[in-house]
Amino acid sequence: LSHERDVFVRLRDGNKSKAMRHMFFAEREVAKVPGITKQTPFKKINRAAVIGSGTMGGGIAMNFANAGIPVTLVDVSDEALAAGLGKVRGNYAGSVSRGRLTQDEMDKRMALISATTAYADLADADIVVEAVFEDMELKKKIFGELDTACKPETILASNTSSLDLNEIGAATGRPDKVCGAHFFSPANVMKLMENVRTGAASDETVATLMNLSKTLGKTGVLVGVGDGFVGNRMLHVAARIAEFMVEEGALPWQVDQVIYDFGFPMGPFAMNDLAGIDVRYSIRQEQLKLNADLRQSVILDRVYETGRYGQKTNGGWYNYEDGSRTGTPEPAIEELIVKTSAELGVQRRPFSKEEILERYIYALINTGAKVLEEGLVLRASDIDVIWHYGYGFPRYQGGPMFYADLVGLNKIYEKVSQFYDDYGDWMKPSDLLKSLAGEGRGFADYVVSS
Ligand code: NAD
Repeated sequence: LSHERDVFVRLRDGNKSKAMRHMFFAEREVAKVPGITKQTPFKKINRAAVIGSGTMGGGIAMNFANAGIPVTLVDVSDEALAAGLGKVRGNYAGSVSRGRLTQDEMDKRMALISATTAYADLADADIVVEAVFEDMELKKKIFGELDTACKPETILASNTSSLDLNEIGAATGRPDKVCGAHFFSPANVMKLMENVRTGAASDETVATLMNLSKTLGKTGVLVGVGDGFVGNRMLHVAARIAEFMVEEGALPWQVDQVIYDFGFPMGPFAMNDLAGIDVRYSIRQEQLKLNADLRQSVILDRVYETGRYGQKTNGGWYNYEDGSRTGTPEPAIEELIVKTSAELGVQRRPFSKEEILERYIYALINTGAKVLEEGLVLRASDIDVIWHYGYGFPRYQGGPMFYADLVGLNKIYEKVSQFYDDYGDWMKPSDLLKSLAGEGRGFADYVVSS
């Protein structure tokens, strides 16, 4: 038995070091874009502007200031600007009090950030990153105004999480200079940028964006236009299957524990409480508009209706006593879950740890395969980089696509086909997953055709 255990530990640790090696190379690969070389011209960013000084805009402006680049923050009123600048100052002051930044350095960075309500002040910006409310009409209007206010070579980027950037680009006379710069929250902390290439974007725009990520100390991953781009599209499917499991018999804290034990910093329900149940609710409302016939879980609506939105209301799936960030299971939520299952006519059943993990991770993988077959990333390992830096997928598991190859695509395809029988629509197996599994190949062998 002890011999068997030795073999098991050796295999497990062998996979860990393989995963770490994979991530090391994946991070180097991610910067390589076919057709773009060191000779491709790109714009040096000497001056930047950020539209919207809210949660994301303030953090994005900090990134520029941290890199020594002067940045102008724009908002609709002096009050909004003062609030935005106040948060930025508070963030820096926190770093100073923790000894991570000197007061002198903080003053220098604050001095690089100016604020205005007038687009006319943006004439000489080399790049503008827009981070206003997620509203297509508003963004199109702003891009039209930026097109007039900025010099002709200014790159216009949006931090949108879901909107069609081709449509935003078409609202300007320079669609070749429009792109997505999708930062993750908190934008001054998270290393990932999904750099979104529109259909019309020029090589120079792409090269500038990829170089900008480096300048800002970020990991930039080039992705294509599509709902939720890469990371969030995968996350939403995994979150959905987690919610279905809860309707069928699992409890949120049981699901979260399994995902945490796999190596994620937190599970989907704790993450939902952090990001806001109201935020996920409105994302689902948008998705319903696009896909009215697709099945949604009911339990999330029921929790939303209670007004428990997560940490911001001191309770969501969990309870957060006195502003604590660690939740404790809420009995009333458990009751609500059991009642909802009964209303849905679902006979609750036990879920093993293994089943929870498989459903969650294989849902991610299947959606990753769809992203890959649609050509929204350059290579499978780019998805692994996105999931590590954007969502904390543990490095020692190597990212969802590497993990899939380790498990074997045959097994994953079989399981996903079962989930498809259970849930329909959202879990339709990817054609690419099916064909690679049939050929006994892995995602690592797959070359995206450009
Ligand atoms: P927010 O509500 O915190 O901030 C939006 C800001 O835009 C506000 O300060 C508002 O006054 C300002 N604004 C509105 N209209 C304006 C206008 N016409 N001109 C200038 N400023 C205007 O929103 P947020 O959470 O920072 O999100 C901003 C964008 O970033 C959205 O597109 C969102 O989808 C995206 N995003 C958000 C997150 C996140 O976790 N919050 C993550 C990635 C991307």
